[in-house]
Amino acid sequence: MSFWAWGLESEEPTDADRRQMAAEISRRYGVEVTPKPIPDLADAQLRPPRISPPDGLAGFCFADPYERARHAGGAHFTDRTRAFNLDFPNPPDFVAHPGTEAELEAVLDWCHEGGHAVVPFGGGSSVVWGVSPPEDAGTCVTIAMDRFDQVLEVDETSRAARIQAGVYGPALEAQLKPTGHTLRHFPQSFRFSTLGGWIATRSGGHYATNHTHIDDFVESVRMLTPSGWWESRRLPGSGAGPSPDRMVIGSEGILGIITEAWMRIQARPTFRATAGVVFDSWMAGTEAVRAIVQAKLWPANLRILDPQEAGRAAGLDGRQALVIVAFESAELSQAANIAAAVEIARDGGGHIDDENVVVDDGTGAPTGHEGPVGKWRSSFIGVDPGTATSLGLLADTFETAITWDRWPEFDATVRERMNAVLAEVCANGELSCRFTHVYPDGPAPYYTWSGMGRQGSEISMWQEVKDAANEVVVAAGGTSTHHHAVGRMHRPDAYDRQRPDLFADSLRAVKRTLDPNGVLNPGVLIDP
Ligand SMILES: Cc1cc2nc3c(=O)[nH]c(=O)nc-3n(C[C@H](O)[C@H](O)[C@H](O)COP(=O)(O)OP(=O)(O)OC[C@H]3O[C@@H](n4cnc5c(N)ncnc54)[C@H](O)[C@@H]3O)c2cc1C
Repeated sequence: MSFWAWGLESEEPTDADRRQMAAEISRRYGVEVTPKPIPDLADAQLRPPRISPPDGLAGFCFADPYERARHAGGAHFTDRTRAFNLDFPNPPDFVAHPGTEAELEAVLDWCHEGGHAVVPFGGGSSVVWGVSPPEDAGTCVTIAMDRFDQVLEVDETSRAARIQAGVYGPALEAQLKPTGHTLRHFPQSFRFSTLGGWIATRSGGHYATNHTHIDDFVESVRMLTPSGWWESRRLPGSGAGPSPDRMVIGSEGILGIITEAWMRIQARPTFRATAGVVFDSWMAGTEAVRAIVQAKLWPANLRILDPQEAGRAAGLDGRQALVIVAFESAELSQAANIAAAVEIARDGGGHIDDENVVVDDGTGAPTGHEGPVGKWRSSFIGVDPGTATSLGLLADTFETAITWDRWPEFDATVRERMNAVLAEVCANGELSCRFTHVYPDGPAPYYTWSGMGRQGSEISMWQEVKDAANEVVVAAGGTSTHHHAVGRMHRPDAYDRQRPDLFADSLRAVKRTLDPNGVLNPGVLIDP
């Protein structure tokens, strides 16, 4: 993995890519941008480790510059900007890579006894500072779970699999494939994120409705805490009090380290159908999305891109919105479902020719690979590794959810505030929106923004815009995050304002039981 870019070292942008990007930015924004060369880690000044692991742990604990730099943060714009500038004020003292439960117990015991903060680390794709060593917490050990990378058992009768937490998305799917199954959980970060990270952050897959959140697939979880092991019983459902799994899912590494989980798996889909419906108005399009989701057809994809995003990512004219609707099944033709969804969309004012409704009845013909839908798909899958890092450009996303009754006003309020702050902070600010997920009672809007800042001041300028986003989303009634998690970034101004205070007290009480010395991921979700 690259220590600064999104992805593998072999996929890092080159100096030539960056010169080209700088020229494009200079032309587009009318500014002079000079790219710094790709950083060399040998030039980084890392604070020396303040602790040494006991002898028994030394074989899997590392403190070389690569390990410490790679684990000094996640994958957010600010993490990548800092790493590119070799700015590592607070790297972990050590990075442990335990390969067995005994090794994990040993390293967690050492941290618990010694009072060293512990950051559980999956793929490090956190975009909310969830894996950044806490400031002011003293010594810190990151526990990387990448050696827990196996599918251990498949129960084909119940359609469930016992899977280790550190396995990355592609390796997980490759191990399930010979059995004809899939977990069918595909966050956009799928290549570089892990099962344990998904469970710890309550990640959202790219399917827009029905079973898409990791929550839906967890059957039971095994987790190591400083107070001992926590393992729930495998059950298809249970009404026995509050669910222990619900306590773990979304715990963001503050209660324990997830080592494995029984996950519900599915047959691989073979029937598919896709359509891209164009709307002259954004709000008419969102109304059609509401009608489709409330018809409970449960499309795999039901996404709307606003005119800005449909122009940029799907090649439309910048005035029309695009609704992408798609169905999948392992069992049944999806021709009737797509026809029903398209009819609802047309009734709501959408335009689509019949020949652009693509149905694959199990032949494997590609659906959704052409036209605007195909363009959008390629731009969604092909995440840029960070070619523009440290070139003065500011860019980020924020995601939320809101009920349908408040949606139009919410969107108007968010746009007004964000456009104002973008105009104050940067030049040529742009804001766009799409829905990533939709529910019968409301959408999950995902806003993307960008603007030209000043080279060297990217992080402080980004913070001004982020403060406004946090403030307006929560004040207008939305959630501080729909699927990116809370981490350290959405506190204290956003998450702390939305959750009940007594809930935070209850969570602190649970944490005191499981982690009495408060070593696990301090500053995430709650203050210890
Ligand atoms: C380009 C990009 C696209 C993204 N797209 C999506 C998306 O579509 N949907 C989505 O939900 N998110 C998305 N994210 C955010 C991120 O990928 C998710 O939060 C993901 O679930 C994190 O998984 P990870 O393995 O990388 O975890 P990490 O980043 O390593 O950790 C995330 C959090 O989980 C904790 N943690 C990790 N492993 C464990 C464990 N075994 N036990 C206990 N705690 C643990 C960490 O301490 C941290 O608090 C995206 C991020 C990027 C950079």
